[in-house]
Amino acid sequence: MFIDTHAHLQFKSFDEDREMVIQRAIENDVAAMITIGTDLTSSLQAVDLAEKYAAVYAAVGIHPTDCAEVADHDFDRIQELATHPKVVAIGEVGLDYYHMRATREKQKNAFVYQIHMAKELKKPLIIHNRESHQDMYEILAEQNLADLGAVLHSFSGDDAFFRKIMELDLYISFTGNITFKKSTSDQLVVQAPLERLLLETDSPFLTPAPFRGKRNEPAYVVHTARKIADLKEIPVEEVARVTSENAVSFFKLDL
Ligand SMILES: [Zn+2]
Repeated sequence: MFIDTHAHLQFKSFDEDREMVIQRAIENDVAAMITIGTDLTSSLQAVDLAEKYAAVYAAVGIHPTDCAEVADHDFDRIQELATHPKVVAIGEVGLDYYHMRATREKQKNAFVYQIHMAKELKKPLIIHNRESHQDMYEILAEQNLADLGAVLHSFSGDDAFFRKIMELDLYISFTGNITFKKSTSDQLVVQAPLERLLLETDSPFLTPAPFRGKRNEPAYVVHTARKIADLKEIPVEEVARVTSENAVSFFKLDL
């Protein structure tokens, strides 16, 4: 079985066939999927989906590209939502210096605020990090998140950043982009201990080969798992088993 720890099933691109997408995932051995909020509206929608489908869990949070206009009241609503029994993490939160839709200061404030929220609620963090490695590392090192649990999703970065994240005892996950011909992550995948890896699709984005160019969905997580298995020269069953065990204990899933 596989666990897709990062999808956005509430997004518009699934409006036509959401139920079938979830069904197809289950038929393809995806035992659980976590649908991730990026702002208050999509966090509310994530919780709705988690209530409706047994295999769907939710994460709630304000994404760094959506934090420019956020009112304090929105953070309060996120905090309330996060107490829902099917909300298994705060996320996605973090820093994005590529899109820069909010100032660095605003992004850092929203990120740290939500880290405190996660600590208070004792829920792990799902972290987005794009071209913000230095500030990201400083915040993570200061916040001491190993016991709570934090995953850097769609991991990117050089070898030095990767080693620092491993030293902090955090988790990482790779998306379908590791299956692309021009992927530069092969060495990182080989080095990443299986015990520190989670599987994810980031659906509807970052579709793995051979479906690149189409909409991504949780059923395709097997293609990323297979790539990890190939690079590490181990059976895909082992990737599935260990990453599922990781996800169950990291998110305290009750499957
Ligand atoms: Zn995402």
